Amino acid sequence: MTLKRVCVFCGSSPGRSPEYARAATEMGALLARRRIGLVFGGGRVGMMGKLAQAALEGGGEVIGVIPRFLHEKRVAFAGLSDLRVVGTMHERKALMAALADGFVALPGGLGTLEETFEMLTWAQLGMHGKPCGLLDVAGFFAPLLRFLDHVTEQGFIDDAHRGMVLSAGTPAELLERLERFEPVVADKAEWALGKMG
Ligand code: AMP
Repeated sequence: MTLKRVCVFCGSSPGRSPEYARAATEMGALLARRRIGLVFGGGRVGMMGKLAQAALEGGGEVIGVIPRFLHEKRVAFAGLSDLRVVGTMHERKALMAALADGFVALPGGLGTLEETFEMLTWAQLGMHGKPCGLLDVAGFFAPLLRFLDHVTEQGFIDDAHRGMVLSAGTPAELLERLERFEPVVADKAEWALGKMG
């Protein structure tokens, strides 16, 4: 699948290891170089700021999507040519999802995890067929990937849906996985009905 735009979810903090911010810069620069547009949360703080700055410096398309209440707190990235200010967090996520052909999570906190899991949830319900991957910088996501294996073993995630959670250690490898992704056809509702005794 050709990626025209990728939505990146990532921390509003830089995290403890400098490797995280480096990966955000690398991802932003790579997207610009590959002429893939960036859709992101519109913030200038933490990982988000590094990501957007690198994409802009590389001459890439950058679209920020931010809810009004955060915009008023002056955390938005100044100088974005395309900053969409929306009413609510839900509107923001819906617009980010609509604008992108794929989703990437870099290290981040609750916001990053929530946004990523919602995209995966929509995919397993067949609401979109867009790829979704985790950039496993310095093994950041390894405990989460192990937990997802555990949830799968315990019968709460279908193997096919577990397979939708792409991951790689470098931005280039992750984009390649996203591009190779074939939408999963297994229907979560049918899978759940099949489990009824
Ligand atoms: P977290 O991982 O908890 O730091 O949250 C980061 C995610 O939540 C980002 O992908 C954003 O969409 C959103 N977010 C949280 N804080 C901000 C902020 N200060 N400015 C813009 N977006 C934010």
